[in-house]
Formats: sequence, structure tokens, C-alpha cells
Amino acid sequence: MDHEDLRLWSKRAADWAADYHSGLRERPVRAPLEPGAVARQVPNGPPELAEPMAEIWADFERIVPAGMTHWQHPRFFAYFPANAAPASMLAEQLVNAMACNALIWQTSPAATEIEQVMVDWLRQAVGLPEGFVGTIHDSATNATLSAVLTMREKALGWRGLEAGLAGGPVLRFYASAETHSSVDKAIRVAGIGQRNLVKVVTDADRAMTGAALQAAIAADRAAGLQPAGVILCAGGTSVGAFDRIAECLAVCRAEGVPSHVDAAWAGSAMICPEFRSLWEGVEAADSVVFNPHKWLGAQFDCSVQFLKDPGAQVRTLGLRPTYLETAGREEIVNFNEWTVPLGRRFRALKLWFVLRAYGLQGLRARIRNHVSWAVELRDRIAALPGIEIVTEPRLSLFTFALADATETEALLNRINDDGRIYLTQTRVDGRFAIRIQIGSFDCCREDVMLVETTLKDLLAP
Ligand SMILES: *Cc1c(COP(=O)(O)O)cnc(C)c1O
Repeated sequence: MDHEDLRLWSKRAADWAADYHSGLRERPVRAPLEPGAVARQVPNGPPELAEPMAEIWADFERIVPAGMTHWQHPRFFAYFPANAAPASMLAEQLVNAMACNALIWQTSPAATEIEQVMVDWLRQAVGLPEGFVGTIHDSATNATLSAVLTMREKALGWRGLEAGLAGGPVLRFYASAETHSSVDKAIRVAGIGQRNLVKVVTDADRAMTGAALQAAIAADRAAGLQPAGVILCAGGTSVGAFDRIAECLAVCRAEGVPSHVDAAWAGSAMICPEFRSLWEGVEAADSVVFNPHKWLGAQFDCSVQFLKDPGAQVRTLGLRPTYLETAGREEIVNFNEWTVPLGRRFRALKLWFVLRAYGLQGLRARIRNHVSWAVELRDRIAALPGIEIVTEPRLSLFTFALADATETEALLNRINDDGRIYLTQTRVDGRFAIRIQIGSFDCCREDVMLVETTLKDLLAP
């Protein structure tokens, strides 16, 4: 296989992709497979001799598509979406062809500079004020880890990096139980220890309030512990909870404790001004993460972290050995110094393509449709016999259940075996509930209302 062969096969791949996408509605959303079914079809060892691409291709077509859960399926209502807009896929083809590693500015100036511009386009798009700059990570998990490491070092006066954590003060972090498990992971990996992540109580709306945060910090100070950081939830993964952002950030400022806001999913919705009241006050945060790779259409991976003072994070994560220096350009932005990994993909190109190909108006229209279809669907399925709405729509996410938990679980299994739609589950105050979010880039109203049809069919006696 050489580059002339690639010219041929990549055209074939483009045709395959178009057919795959236009045929998605005919496929079951979730792979209808038992574990091991795919591995059984692949030889146990690598080939000694080169194989013709035609054979490799044939095996791909035979084995892989049928073994996939189709994230771009218009009726993917599970987890959160990982949307790949056509313009994003095109940009990724070009990135793929150049296959750069944008670790420092000079290893791909276009990657660094378009990343700087795109972060600022997104800042404006979601309504954050001037003064925030940022970077693109692979995942919100890594953005949150970077923020936690930076807050840790701020609290330690940057001594932890050199001296380690042993013998230092006990650092305390605060988040509600609605935050994503990536916060727990960051706290563990950063050496803070799970026990020092205080899960602050939430109110009836599943929100951390300023008063509750204030009380938790005061209790720790009284016990001789050192508050080091607050992670706020702006659109929780389970049921879409939002902390009282303005109140909590006012406490952070008064207490001198830095903050990070996790808006991984809901951040995309903030391109619509009418949803911004949900994270009102966010401009007082030190760090904000959101994933264009979820709801916006810039495919996985693409997680943007906005920072008020990037210097603190660069001081925490940046290392510049001689082989990463750029002679005479010490002030240049080298984005690897803002993140944990050294190597980095050119992720900004797909943002450039997506934002231009659809415009903010086109992207807003999709998100507004998703939110209003979620509300309509909620009303329709609330009218079905036996169905109880467990949590009301937060943006485009809500949950429902039957009265009996075992029957709810059985219903979810029947839904996903049926294949027309794909839903997942959560627990709400201990109660097993079926979770649905509307967010697929290509879904239309009929796709969403097919949830009602499917439920009717499956609930029929
Ligand atoms: C999806 C999600 C994450 C994790 O995102 P990754 O990019 O997969 O690491 C974190 N927080 C929230 C609220 C999420 O919805």
C-alpha cells in the first residue's frame, strides 16, 4: 500500500462513509452482540506477509460495521452525543492527511494559531467576557485534571511539583455529588485523595448553593484543613444538575479559593443566549471546560478549557527541556505546556470548519430543536400508562421510570434489544431511572417521537 493506492482507497472510503451515514436509520443503534463475537473473527496473530488492501477492506466491511454501536445514528439518545458534523469529518480527513504533532508552535504553527483563534471564537460564542484565553484538550477529564493540578500547586505555592506532597498540608476540594466521576479521578490522580474531595450537600434542585459551600469551607478551616479548590457542576451527567454558579463563585472569591466549572455537555448550549441564565455568573470562574465534541458537532476529541490566568496552569504543567526550546522565541505559545500530554493533535481545524459551515445560527437552531423536542417527548411519554417522569427536562435531558425498578430495568433492556432507539440509565436518589437526551446532529423530530412509538409497542400487553 503506497500513496497512489491511498488516493484510490480513500475515495472509496469517502463513498463508503456517505453510504454508511445515509443508511444509519436502517441499523440497530446499539451493537446487538455478545462479548467476544468480534475478536473471534480476527486471527490470533499478525501476518508475516503483506496482504492486499482488497482483502483487508473486505474484512473491515464484513466484521466492523456490524460490531459497532452507531454514535452518529440519529436515534442515539444514550449517554451524551459525540457528534461528528459532516464539516468536522472533512476537516479530520485533512488533519489525517497531514498527520502533524502540534506539540510546540514551530512543529505546526497553523495548528497552534488556529487553536488560539478558535478558542476565542468559542469564548465569544458562549458569551464569556474578554480576558479568558484557553486551549484544546482531548477530553474534559484531562482539562479537569489540569485544573485540579493547578489549584493544588497554587495552594502549595508551587512546592508540590518539586518536593512532592508528603508532609504538606491537607488540601481540601469541594464539589457536589452531581459532578462527573472525572472530578473524583482528577482528585485521586493529583494525590489529593478521595477523602479530601468534600461532596457538598445540594438543595432540592440538586444544586450546590453558596451557603452550603461556605459552610463546608468554614468547617474545614475550623478543623485546620486547607481549602484549595472548588469544582462546579454546570450540567451534570446524570440528570443535568446546575450548581448556583454565581453564589458559589462569590464564596470562592471571598475565601480566596480558585474554581473550575465543568460544563462538558451543557457548554455547547450556551451559544444560545436564552440558556445562559443556567450558568449565570460563570465569568467569575478561573477555569471553565466544555466539550464541542459532545453537542456542537466538532467530533471527538475536542474539549476546550477557558482560563483566566493561563500562567498558573503553564507554571504547573509546563516543562521546557532544551529539545523543546524555540531559539529567540521564548514568549511563543507552546500548547503542550498547558496540558498533561506532550503530543497533541490538530483539533482546531474541525472547529474552524464546523463554525463556518453551519454558522452559529445553524448550530443554535439544532440545539433549540433538541431542547424543544425533549419537552414535547416528555409530555407525550408522560401520558403513556405506567410511565412516570423522574426528572424534568434540563436542556434536552430527562429521566423516566415505571413504578417498579425491576420492570424499569427490564423495559430498558427491551428498548435496546429492539434497536430502533438507544437509551441508558442512571440512579436518581437511589431510584433506577431510564435516561434520555436529545442531541444527535442529524436527528429530526420524527426520530425523537419514535421513542414514544417504541415505548408504546414495548409496553403493549
Ligand atoms: C462527558 C462529561 C465529562 C467527561 O468528558 P470526557 O471528555 O469524556 O472526559 C465530564 N463532565 C461532564 C459533566 C460530562 O458530561
